[in-house]
Amino acid sequence: MKKTIGPAYGEYVPVEVRRTIDAQVRAERASGFALYAGPAGGAEVEFGIYAALAFYLIAKPGVVPWVFDQTVSRAIGAIAETTFDARAIRRGRRLGSGSFGTVYRCEDERTGRELVVKVPNAVEGASQLQNAEAYLNRRIARAPWVASGCAKFLGTYYEVEGASSPCLVWAYEEGEATLEDYLEDRAFPQSLEDALGVRARANESEAKRVNRVAKRVLKDLARTVAGLHDIGIVHRDLKPANLVLMGKRFKLVDFGAACDLRSGENFDPEQALLDPKYSPPEQYIMSQKTPPPPPVIGGVLAPLLWTAAQPQLFDSYSLGLILLQLCVPQLRGKNVMQPNGAFQRRLEDAGYDLRAWRADVEDALAWDFSALDINGGIAWDLACRLVTKRNLILRGRLDVGAALAHPFLI
Ligand code: ADP
Ligand code: MG
Repeated sequence: MKKTIGPAYGEYVPVEVRRTIDAQVRAERASGFALYAGPAGGAEVEFGIYAALAFYLIAKPGVVPWVFDQTVSRAIGAIAETTFDARAIRRGRRLGSGSFGTVYRCEDERTGRELVVKVPNAVEGASQLQNAEAYLNRRIARAPWVASGCAKFLGTYYEVEGASSPCLVWAYEEGEATLEDYLEDRAFPQSLEDALGVRARANESEAKRVNRVAKRVLKDLARTVAGLHDIGIVHRDLKPANLVLMGKRFKLVDFGAACDLRSGENFDPEQALLDPKYSPPEQYIMSQKTPPPPPVIGGVLAPLLWTAAQPQLFDSYSLGLILLQLCVPQLRGKNVMQPNGAFQRRLEDAGYDLRAWRADVEDALAWDFSALDINGGIAWDLACRLVTKRNLILRGRLDVGAALAHPFLI
């Protein structure tokens, strides 16, 4: 009998594998009870091979989109970037500072455009970090559906010619206060409602109002973060200080700790850059034994790494903490989230079981959970699914994309 062998089966499947399959087919035919009676390498097998390949190429974080990003989008992005003349940048008020960079409000005197500039500090490691952050901002700028939830990145410039650390430039957008500022504001939730353009109804309970603004903030944030995950980026530093009010919504800033799983940029699993106040108990996005993916190969292997390690679950935990802070008044103060503070210590003692933790703080400290209990407690349910220990195999923590489908956020 003449076999028809398709090109995928004939060319790409290793000889040893084909031999095994052929033997199986022969054995089945001889026994007269064939599960698969067609010729090995027939149309169905061909289809199966191509289907598996296609699935792999589009599986998260996407080999095909990665290739497109690295070629077409990158070229367009490079052209679209604004060039700045360092001498024309006039420095204004300081907006914030970290250990590696300081953020200023600035003006470009040539164009009159208002800017936000992150200037590297003169410390070791600043150059590497600024370059990594520039890389990540560029990647995000090339994905407009994600970029719309982040500060608008414009480009870079060097303060002195030949410097190794670039200054990073974003467009200034009206707003400027961070979610942290609102959480610490005495007029919460009124001030936050005003900022977001949310109107409370007459005689509404505070719990109901808090629940509503929390939902608004969380939904916007979850959309942006899910978008980041879709393009293979884990933010790793989600916290109220990195959410800046722009217009009538909060946008995400600070990609200094973010990691691109496709290229391995900023991956370094041992770096202790992360904010311990918002980091999940596992501390790292992956097991420390995971080697950083090599460039190019990394892009091709990324779906395997992503599927096996689920690095994005790191951000889920921080998202859950933001939800808790928005809703529980006792968590809104300045230092309550510190690693040695009451919140973290009691949560650790409770084995990161949020329900056990709640019973403890409700009992001992009379903390107020009413904003989470509105509508049958769906917000509380979401918090419990996000703020939990993850398990290497069973996961046990909700993915941000899946959180978007949770009843609280629908
Ligand atoms: P760091 O790495 O030092 O935390 P960030 O990028 O988070 O740097 O910036 C520090 C602070 O600067 C933020 O918390 C925020 O208050 C302010 N900031 C950053 N980017 C912007 C922006 N695009 N618009 C307004 N304020 C910003
Ligand atoms: Mg920051």
